Amino acid sequence: MAIDPETAWQKLESRDAEGGFFYAVMTTGVFCRPDCRSRMPLRANVRFFGTVDEARAAGFRACLRCKPDRALGAGVLDRIRAHIEKHLDRAVPLAELGRVAGLSPFTVQRMFKQKLGVSPLQYQRALRAGSLRSALKKGANVTDAVYEAGFGSSSRAYEGAQLGMTPGRFAQGGKGERIGFSTARTPFGWMVVGATERGLCWLALAGTAAEAEGSLREEFPEATLRKDPALSGLVEAAVRTVAGAETDGKLALDLRGTAFQLRVWQALRAIPRGETRSYSELARELGEPKATRAVARACAMNRVAVVVPCHRVVGVSGALTGYRWGMERKKMLLEAEKRG
Ligand SMILES: [Zn+2]
Repeated sequence: MAIDPETAWQKLESRDAEGGFFYAVMTTGVFCRPDCRSRMPLRANVRFFGTVDEARAAGFRACLRCKPDRALGAGVLDRIRAHIEKHLDRAVPLAELGRVAGLSPFTVQRMFKQKLGVSPLQYQRALRAGSLRSALKKGANVTDAVYEAGFGSSSRAYEGAQLGMTPGRFAQGGKGERIGFSTARTPFGWMVVGATERGLCWLALAGTAAEAEGSLREEFPEATLRKDPALSGLVEAAVRTVAGAETDGKLALDLRGTAFQLRVWQALRAIPRGETRSYSELARELGEPKATRAVARACAMNRVAVVVPCHRVVGVSGALTGYRWGMERKKMLLEAEKRG
């Protein structure tokens, strides 16, 4: 962001806390917030920067008195969020949020993005679209909810395309979808596979054939389900992946979820067979170290067991944590992979 030095200097002279810039003093090598209580520098010695990073990159260090690199309190963020949430019926300009927070619009924007990964405007749009509201209602904290609504590292496009993943969630209960299925006994229990014309969309393990089929009906109550013996090959292919068979390219997947869920599922497929990761390790690998809980939730939402190997995620101590299809099966899968 370009800073007009003349305007900035005027704001600095009045020690305007909401100036929306940092100033650095060449003679001391230090940069400050505009309202720092340090001695007023000479105009000729001052440079202005839009961000802490830019000031640092230019070789300046943060002032110890006004601490320009200090993160702003969570209380301010809560106030901004509450204001957005209260006025969903209209556009809330950044300047207004700035007044609510007692900060410059620039700082509001920067802080919001830094903490939540989205701009205040994007946050408002997601709330209006309802995608955030449902996650928040379920009790997710805001950061997790933002990720689950499909944001999170919007700077990086997700790599789902190469897996044949299609964006968008399954519409309510699979409405309008035709899903063929096949059930078979495997070393890991009864397995049911469900596939759309695009690929495998459901793979579950259960104690009985009826239970396995029931899981499919429960996940897609609105879809048209049809038994398809031709899909038994998918069961065999899935079982072979545990023994180390390469399936890439042969096993089409129809995974649908938020961009973030797709990234997590993709990361699961990248864990080598026989190895495990903790949720926090997986979060770090995704470049989202703060999103451990959102990663865990995305793993729990996996619809394609075994092939998208959520069983390779364990607790930090290596303890087996939960598994949608039974802890005993998780254990068996991991042991089989180590043997293979
Ligand atoms: Zn200072």
